[in-house]
Amino acid sequence: MCRNCIYCKCKKCVIKKGKTKAGSQRYICKNCGKTFILKSKGRNYDEEFKKEAMRLYFEGNSSRAVARLLKIRSVPFVCFI
Ligand SMILES: [Zn+2]
Repeated sequence: MCRNCIYCKCKKCVIKKGKTKAGSQRYICKNCGKTFILKSKGRNYDEEFKKEAMRLYFEGNSSRAVARLLKIRSVPFVCFI
């Protein structure tokens, strides 16, 4: 299953790189060298969730307000854009 890098959007550079202490799959991008986690056992930042967060954000809510609306601690928009 192909994964896009959340930073550089590279589709063919992402490989698995062990697991976090929480048991989430960690990935590393061979292109930009960054590691990231796509799925966690806690909140799942799936496509629908991201869309909803972006929608709320562009409606004029601050990132803090969006986080509150979605009942998460903070919105990592850097991961979405
Ligand atoms: Zn990358």
